[in-house]
Amino acid sequence: MAYDRNNIFARILRGEIPCNKVYEDAHVLAFHDISPQSPTHVLAIPKGEYVSFDDFSQNASAEEITALVRAVGHIAREQGVAESGYRILANTGAAAHQEVQHFHVHLFGGRDLGGMLPRR
Ligand code: AMP
Repeated sequence: MAYDRNNIFARILRGEIPCNKVYEDAHVLAFHDISPQSPTHVLAIPKGEYVSFDDFSQNASAEEITALVRAVGHIAREQGVAESGYRILANTGAAAHQEVQHFHVHLFGGRDLGGMLPRR
């Protein structure tokens, strides 16, 4: 899938839409999810144009990948959920219901998050 420069996170990165920022460095922006599903619900995104984890994991530089992983760990500690525990999640593609076509990592915490996936 080609990267769509009009997706909502691309517009946030360009400053066209506001976000509630929690972290930024040369490669990463992180902000609170607009519709939080847990007391802590942060989205961490690369600044580069990557559609999904599939795209990012194949095409991002080692520096970009390191920056994102380090940022997520840093944010978890800064948000005060590292000790109690948290979950990171990257919906990828249709089966996972990825809504925004710019790679993002969800960071959930601040409550008991339950089992990993709903059982069918
Ligand atoms: P996903 O289903 O993994 O693609 O998740 C997309 C997430 O982006 C959802 O949790 C939305 O609530 C969140 N979201 C959509 N628009 C915004 C926005 N403008 N600011 C912050 N979060 C957003």
